[in-house]
Amino acid sequence: MRTYDYVIIGSGIAGLYTALLAQRRGSVLILTKGSIDDCNTKHAQGGIAAAIGEGDTPDLHFWDTVVAGAGLSNRDAVRILVTEAADRIADLTELGVPFDTIDGEVALAKEAAHAVPRILHAGGDATGEHIEVTLGRRIRQSRIEVLEHFLATGIMVENDIARGVEALDTSTGSMEQFGGKHIVLATGGAGRLFKYTTNSEVATGDGVALAYRAGAEIMDMELFQFHPTAIRLPGVPPFLISEAVRGEGGLLRNVEGYRFMPDYSPEKELAPRDVVTRSILYEMQKTHSDRVFLDITHLAPRVITARFPHIYRFCVEHGLDITKGQIPVAPAAHYMMGGVKTDSWGETSIKGLFAVGETGCTGLHGANRLASNSLLEVLVFSKRAVEKDIDKTGEDGPGLGELSQCCVPSRDGSEVPLASSTALQALMWENVGIIRAGDTLEKAADTISSWEECLEEPADRSSYELNSLVLTGRLVAEAALIRKESRGAHFRTDYPETSPDWVKHVVLKRC
Ligand SMILES: Cc1cc2nc3c(=O)[nH]c(=O)nc-3n(C[C@H](O)[C@H](O)[C@H](O)COP(=O)(O)OP(=O)(O)OC[C@H]3O[C@@H](n4cnc5c(N)ncnc54)[C@H](O)[C@@H]3O)c2cc1C
Repeated sequence: MRTYDYVIIGSGIAGLYTALLAQRRGSVLILTKGSIDDCNTKHAQGGIAAAIGEGDTPDLHFWDTVVAGAGLSNRDAVRILVTEAADRIADLTELGVPFDTIDGEVALAKEAAHAVPRILHAGGDATGEHIEVTLGRRIRQSRIEVLEHFLATGIMVENDIARGVEALDTSTGSMEQFGGKHIVLATGGAGRLFKYTTNSEVATGDGVALAYRAGAEIMDMELFQFHPTAIRLPGVPPFLISEAVRGEGGLLRNVEGYRFMPDYSPEKELAPRDVVTRSILYEMQKTHSDRVFLDITHLAPRVITARFPHIYRFCVEHGLDITKGQIPVAPAAHYMMGGVKTDSWGETSIKGLFAVGETGCTGLHGANRLASNSLLEVLVFSKRAVEKDIDKTGEDGPGLGELSQCCVPSRDGSEVPLASSTALQALMWENVGIIRAGDTLEKAADTISSWEECLEEPADRSSYELNSLVLTGRLVAEAALIRKESRGAHFRTDYPETSPDWVKHVVLKRC
């Protein structure tokens, strides 16, 4: 068995950035299940939030994040995020990420629920692609070993310490083991749980499944963010239309042409994501339509093409000139706020096992992630994960309360159709999606449990991914059942109010 100081699973921003830092401390291996640039990161459009502009302060950024988090944010983690932001942006600039500038100064955009313009971007709306390309180039120039098409299938744990990773070489079908002093999950999110998602096909919840099976604690899984505006056109994937488009003045209209957001929130189109998402859903129901429209035709065409070249091109390729016509949009699953529970140094409840990026959960996003905070979170907490002295325990404060639950699949005995990712995605979208209720959540959890019990031993990438999706889907449904209130992205018709009794995290663990 080959051994390394760091075995990192995943090659999005979290995997690549962690690897570049970790190489200063020892040998590094990256395992990634597709090509190195298969990830969500390269699709990020809006940018990265950091309080570096005139009139902005880490304190303002702190409060915007905490308010968006709807009372559930881990404030210690938020404080770390906003305080270390400027240094991490400087690191990225030094690595070569070409942030856009105006007259020699970094250009800062405004996005919903940010008090001031504070979003750095690159290539207009191609921020993620620039980051992925830049970090990938640095990796190729380094001595870091990268194994593409290696799917991590298990974490090896001995005496409660993570010791290595089992992986399937998907090009030969052989299994291999890699030993490591630090095992880092950087496997991204789980948007593929849902029928409509902005996420790329790698986002199948593998990190959560790997950690859960290894015995780690999983937190806040009921808190899944749906983006209000993804393209809704027959035969076209739900491509994201960034928040920044509304930040630049985009207006939402229903299919009858009526601008509806002022009816729902004083912040109108710039209300928090969950509010805009639910408002769109209600308007779609009211007008018996599967879409609403985002209108930017009042902006100067050169502003649109300069600021949103990527979105403009995508729409033109699909027959829509957004300088002249409105964009058909609807909500889509976007970001997993929950994940593998970590301390503020990225370490999970298993010693030596770290989780960074979207798969990790410090609790900082609370019940609703503030736009453009996730790329920043990756930078800040990946650096801390590499800096953590493995022999010392963290010094985290007490934080919010937790409701811990041991869980096993349970089923009601009725027959269910065969498990497939399409069936799971439809079930999750209908019953564990934007608007939830106890009875349908319970049925969904039962169905997913039945699938889990009947799944065959996985043998290839797609069957492993189906296993991960089914397990992750069950955790989302169970956590959503447990949280008997509505808060941020979690909305239940049977418990529509936010309750002070639920200012706590739901933590799940294998029995
Ligand atoms: C369309 C879109 C736009 C976004 N825009 C923004 C934005 O403007 N600003 C912002 O802050 N955030 C944005 N986000 C969110 C942000 O992009 C992600 O949260 C972030 O990129 C996640 O990075 P990551 O490295 O954790 O995961 P990813 O970039 O998804 O990388 C995960 C990696 O893990 C690998 N992997 C997964 N499972 C396994 C396994 N079992 N074995 C081996 N490898 C595995 C994958 O192949 C991949 O390489 C956006 C997200 C999307 C989808």
